Amino acid sequence: MSNLTRDFFIGLSNNKFLNTNAKKWGFQLGAEKFVAGTTIESVMNTVRELNQQGIYCTLDNLGEFVSDKTEASMAKDDIIRILDEIHTEKLDCHISVKLTQLGLDIDPEFCLDNIRQILDIAAKYDIFINIDMENYAYYNRTLEAVEILNKEYSNVGTVIQSYLYRVEADLDLLKDVRIRLVKGAYKESGDVAYQSKEQIDSNYIKLAKKRLLGNTFTSIATHDHNIINELKDFIEENQISGDNFEFQMLYGFRTEMQYKLAEEGYRFCTYIPFGNDWFGYFMRRLAERPQNLNLVAKDAFYTKDNKLKKGPIIAGAAIALTFFIWRKKRRK
Ligand SMILES: Cc1cc2nc3c(=O)[nH]c(=O)nc-3n(C[C@H](O)[C@H](O)[C@H](O)COP(=O)(O)OP(=O)(O)OC[C@H]3O[C@@H](n4cnc5c(N)ncnc54)[C@H](O)[C@@H]3O)c2cc1C
Repeated sequence: MSNLTRDFFIGLSNNKFLNTNAKKWGFQLGAEKFVAGTTIESVMNTVRELNQQGIYCTLDNLGEFVSDKTEASMAKDDIIRILDEIHTEKLDCHISVKLTQLGLDIDPEFCLDNIRQILDIAAKYDIFINIDMENYAYYNRTLEAVEILNKEYSNVGTVIQSYLYRVEADLDLLKDVRIRLVKGAYKESGDVAYQSKEQIDSNYIKLAKKRLLGNTFTSIATHDHNIINELKDFIEENQISGDNFEFQMLYGFRTEMQYKLAEEGYRFCTYIPFGNDWFGYFMRRLAERPQNLNLVAKDAFYTKDNKLKKGPIIAGAAIALTFFIWRKKRRK
């Protein structure tokens, strides 16, 4: 993929105007293929269905650019409501959360207080909480929070991104923390992150093998069949216990492979994002793989009886305008 295309979609994912307005538009551009509904009720149906097929879930109540305490407290309350539902319905499901959604940008102590309230309830219900990793600007603060929380709770973990140079040393420090291993979804500079797919992939495989030989649970989160196949062989050769790891993929991606891994007897977990704040998440998925647009293109623009939809045209026009402004700024 050209860097230009990737930079463009990452630029859109960070655009505050589009993110804010997208909440009012409702799902557009086929986002519903990758985001499982806007309400807690609808996403619970998805979890129930996947659990019935032997698939675990992790829920992400989407939220970006949270800039006031009321919004952060509402996000915390929603997550607690979801925990209650998971517990009452005895679902196999945990929670993924971003610290910025809980107020990291507003006041770190307030953010820690929010995540502690979530962890208290989750610990009571024996539910795991994963703290997602955001862009590098939040990396140190996220790890510091995880270090503090890991001393207080046994049900908290985080994410390590194989595109960062420093992560091998960080993984050593986190050897008793449950980790989700990913390649990394943001645009980072060559000062801190590998830029080539080969280097990112080979670091991923190296880190995954190291973790699998340890004793702490690891989620292997990737859609990359080459990596999955290599790790499956490694797991077999080294007789790694199935209790020590799981595979994870995002909702709506490579669904057949998700079912196949579960059928083969691997523990499999689907990451399910939901909520109105779909735009940034959706744009990051297009940045990773613009072909994802092909998956959604027809449904995005046409109704079932083949009429052109109005919403995506407005959304498309707003994005096109942003694109022209972005190109102009880039040329200056
Ligand atoms: C469960 C989960 C949680 C995540 N959480 C975070 C997080 O907290 N922080 C973060 O920075 N990032 C996160 N990510 C995103 C991650 O960092 C990557 O950006 C994203 O997963 C793309 O990398 P990949 O490993 O899936 O494979 P890629 O490098 O995108 O793809 C590798 C190869 O796999 C094949 N492939 C990939 N996707 C498809 C497809 N849909 N259909 C057909 N073939 C395909 C293609 O051959 C492609 O060349 C998460 C990803 C997952 C799966």
